[in-house]
Amino acid sequence: MKKTLALVAHDHKKPELIDWAKAHKTILAKYKLVATGTTGGLLSEALDLPVLKYKSGPLGGDQQIGALIAEGSLDALFFFWDPLNPAPHDPDVKALLRLCSVWNVPVACNEATADLIISSPRFDDPNQYRKIPVY
Ligand code: PGA
Repeated sequence: MKKTLALVAHDHKKPELIDWAKAHKTILAKYKLVATGTTGGLLSEALDLPVLKYKSGPLGGDQQIGALIAEGSLDALFFFWDPLNPAPHDPDVKALLRLCSVWNVPVACNEATADLIISSPRFDDPNQYRKIPVY
């Protein structure tokens, strides 16, 4: 089964995520892509790839992606959050990052980490590449 990747970017970081995604389009095309609403719209247009769009982040999209993590249905999160501007949905942002730690989901909050995750042969391993915590 295809791995599922979630992509989310705050407004000031959207150009960076879109550029990054365009540069990695061939790799991203191998995965199922999901995103928060606005990010997803920009991505599907820029990549010409199917992207499942949830609600916009401030309207619950971050929490929908969090639900995927809780269900064990997300394999990595690329979350270019904005460190320089406050977000109205900061609690949702924290909750999403927290769930990545709870469930040991790889999460990239910047381009350098995103490059490392997406290019790792371990990540591309069709078998399980990470331990899923047992609580
Ligand atoms: P957006 O949401 O993609 O709908 O802009 C991102 C966010 O702010 O979490």
